[in-house]
Amino acid sequence: MNIQNSEKFYAQAQNFMPGGVNSPVRACRAVGRAPLFIDHAKGSKIYDVDGNEYIDYICSWGPNILGHSNERVINAVTETCQRGLTFGACHSGEIELAKLIKKHFPSMEMLRLVNSGTEAVMSAIRAARGYTKRDKIVKFEGCYHGHSDGLLVKSGSGLLTNSIPDSAGVPKGYTDNTLLAKYNNKESVEKLFEEHGDDIACVIVEPCAANMGVVPPQEGFLRFLRDITLKYNSLLIFDEVITGFRLSIGGAQKYYNVKPDLTTLGKIVGGGMPLAVYGGKKEVMQCVAPLGSVYQAGTLSGNPVAVSAGIETLKILEENEAEIYTRLEKISLQLENAMQESGMNVNRVGSIMTVFFTNEKVKDYDTAKTADTARFAEYFRHMQDNGIYTAPSQFEAMFVSFAHTDEDIDKTINAIKSLE
Ligand code: PLP
Repeated sequence: MNIQNSEKFYAQAQNFMPGGVNSPVRACRAVGRAPLFIDHAKGSKIYDVDGNEYIDYICSWGPNILGHSNERVINAVTETCQRGLTFGACHSGEIELAKLIKKHFPSMEMLRLVNSGTEAVMSAIRAARGYTKRDKIVKFEGCYHGHSDGLLVKSGSGLLTNSIPDSAGVPKGYTDNTLLAKYNNKESVEKLFEEHGDDIACVIVEPCAANMGVVPPQEGFLRFLRDITLKYNSLLIFDEVITGFRLSIGGAQKYYNVKPDLTTLGKIVGGGMPLAVYGGKKEVMQCVAPLGSVYQAGTLSGNPVAVSAGIETLKILEENEAEIYTRLEKISLQLENAMQESGMNVNRVGSIMTVFFTNEKVKDYDTAKTADTARFAEYFRHMQDNGIYTAPSQFEAMFVSFAHTDEDIDKTINAIKSLE
């Protein structure tokens, strides 16, 4: 496959941006290939600057559940642009989007629009701390909640109690109040609550983990988190930046039937534009400024163009709910079956899945880390050479969209089956 033009752009980009990229995983360092520079994308396909066509299973890391450049969404955005790109003021689209979100996420009684998943999570945690007047939070090893300081805590058993920051530039004091538990391990959570229960403002969790690869919650795990947070008067935050509107139109909370106190949404809710949301119980959200003393603001928050992309995307999902989610399940299952028939170890929930190159059943960060990343890199290169665009890291999800055709799925299955 000729990717000469991508390679040329990549060489130039490295003079301007760290690693030539604006988000680290895009540098493709784990798979030994230059990143592709994208020219355009439509439906299930993405096209690079060398004119190669790929079936896209990154889907912009989740937002493109309808595929790329959905006509209705593009029209809505174009029409909105004609009326102005940003007002920094109230507009009725914000209410329309909030209504749609609340309809499908009834636990989000009141909500705030922000610009990124990172911001949504950071703000939700601030609200939880402001409401409970407690400082500590519990997060799980291997769960990613954006890059705000307090959440960049190194995972790993030796660091469970020390909470050492994962990133240079994060003072130790910023993560002192971040307690680490193990995903799918009730005892690790119980222990933290026994020791610090009265100081824990909230537990934050990806209700289906997707940032150590896809790792589903075991039966009863989310219900357990609900019960223990209630017992200790802590709040439960579901970070549904990936799972929101993906596992079902009502996200993971509907899929698993567990109701959190606060929810964060991103990706799909912005229809491909920079938009994210946090919200939940009215009494908690009423602590947020200007009603309450928890400060949070944003020049571009509720941006009309992003809001219109979100509204149109959610309307399409709503109008075609049964058809879309049934099809996503069907074609994702076909891919899973093909992987299993090829002897691969795959975790899947709905339209997100990960092939792990390990013989262990992956149920948490420790088991995810047993994966052979060199073998994954071979798989990645094989798929790319066969016109399939997948995440360049073992610890990411593969996203299936409603735009993927039967022909795309057949072609992908052939590529999977031809892997040696
Ligand atoms: N939370 C989860 C579960 C995510 O997967 C991500 C990003 O992938 C984030 C938060 C951060 O979102 P953003 O990249 O929009 O800041």
